[in-house]
Amino acid sequence: MKAEKIGTEIQRITHCQVLWDKYSRDFYSVDSSSYLVKPLVIVFPRNEKEIIKILRFASKKSIPVTPRGAGTGLVGSALGRGIILDLKNFDKIKVYPNYVQADAGVLRGTLDKKLEKDGKFFGPDPSVGPYCTVGGMIATNASGSHSLKYGSVIDNLIGVRIITSSGKTINLPSKSQFDNKILKMINRNVQKKFPHVSKNSCGYRLDKITKKTDLQKIIAGSEGTLGIIVSAKIKILPLPKKKILIILSYRNLEQAVIDSAKIVKLAPSALELIDKNIIEHIKFNFPTDTGCLLFVEFDKNIEKSKADLGKIITGTRIIKTLTKKDEVKKWWNIRNSALGFSLRGMTPNQSLPTLIEDAAVSVEKLVLLVDIIKKISKKYKLDIITYGHAGNGNLHIRPIIRNKNKKMMKKIAVEFFSKIIEIGGTITGEHGDGLARSEFVKLQYGNDVYSVFKKIKQEFDPKNILNPDKIITTKSNMAKNLKV
Ligand SMILES: Cc1cc2nc3c(=O)[nH]c(=O)nc-3n(C[C@H](O)[C@H](O)[C@H](O)COP(=O)(O)OP(=O)(O)OC[C@H]3O[C@@H](n4cnc5c(N)ncnc54)[C@H](O)[C@@H]3O)c2cc1C
Repeated sequence: MKAEKIGTEIQRITHCQVLWDKYSRDFYSVDSSSYLVKPLVIVFPRNEKEIIKILRFASKKSIPVTPRGAGTGLVGSALGRGIILDLKNFDKIKVYPNYVQADAGVLRGTLDKKLEKDGKFFGPDPSVGPYCTVGGMIATNASGSHSLKYGSVIDNLIGVRIITSSGKTINLPSKSQFDNKILKMINRNVQKKFPHVSKNSCGYRLDKITKKTDLQKIIAGSEGTLGIIVSAKIKILPLPKKKILIILSYRNLEQAVIDSAKIVKLAPSALELIDKNIIEHIKFNFPTDTGCLLFVEFDKNIEKSKADLGKIITGTRIIKTLTKKDEVKKWWNIRNSALGFSLRGMTPNQSLPTLIEDAAVSVEKLVLLVDIIKKISKKYKLDIITYGHAGNGNLHIRPIIRNKNKKMMKKIAVEFFSKIIEIGGTITGEHGDGLARSEFVKLQYGNDVYSVFKKIKQEFDPKNILNPDKIITTKSNMAKNLKV
């Protein structure tokens, strides 16, 4: 069907805003990833009834539907060639003492402001800050710096309300037959095949579902492939009264990750890393031999933690010890701008594709991960920018690619993912599979787990219209539709 026909039909059945002009289709053909996929129409439903009508229409006509939050995802998971469902009109928040009931389109920034007034916060904090949405964070199982202490979204998701492709509204968890059916598909043998890492956004997180009251967790990281999230109940916590942020300078990445494995034992609230490619863009007089920085934050037992840290770190210098709120915030902003700083050094024929940017291993294995990075850098003669969530063993790796060499990008990705799986890691700790990694989900988990994933997808979306080719796919999309 042509865009105009789909657009006018959806307008007729729902009366909500539908766009299919060139400008809007171009705008929604990109997100924060390296991909470009042009949709047919963009729809802005205002209530559940409208979503149900759109999904029934799309099911009947076999048109793909891709839900979209703020489009800050890094692997093209919010891009689709059919209908884009922008959830921005789903914007209500209700705060309760220990949890918040939030609609999918609520922006993180709005949520934070509302919670702050009550002295509360939501643990997972993607570095993109205020711009992502509740729906997007759930659907990618987002994490962030403070996930080290407070977990990823999956650890903080109490309940979720979704609409499946047939237009059925489901609350998870519930006591329904549907819940029982899904629960029966998950067993210990399947769960054993998941990597031992503290965060993981690859595939469906069956390892986190051990009882009926965990079933909402199947939606965390599902990337819009199982249902449209309309609202969620998420855990909130009291804001810490005090924080200390200590910034450590290391000569190189290796030394920093060796210390990271020791520092996590002190239970910091965050342990983050940036390498020299980023440091060189920060206006500050670092010691000339600074090759890597660690950001260590404690929000409990501050004085003791600071003293303990001093005892265990080696080959490092303390650059800053910050306790004032404004200063702590300023330096976190510097860390959170790592990607922006990396882009400053780019020339027009260089790019930083998001392909191998999100592997996670156990923190003790970070040295092995760094070794893999070094070998790839040497073999392909590439500079590689590295930053990320060292405490979680999750490093964001951006090789600087020249002249859009897609063949080389694919080769690097295959090599990198195989090695990560070999050392017991996940190919994605927080950004998800999307267009970049869905074809590797089977490699990550093996046939048995993958066949359960397929059965689950079939239950939620029998006609495969919900964000097709994400997570479950037979296609290789990694090097297709790359705009870089
Ligand atoms: C500079 C930068 C820093 C980042 N740092 C981090 C970080 O530290 N940690 C981290 O985890 N991520 C990070 N990200 C990635 C990204 O911000 C997060 O994944 C974020 O949670 C995506 O939210 P969004 O609203 O933009 O979702 P989108 O990009 O719009 O969508 C992401 C996925 O969610 C699905 N989706 C969106 N809404 C719904 C819904 N209502 N129902 C079902 N599915 C839905 C989409 O289909 C898509 O699959 C970063 C991104 C950038 C650009």
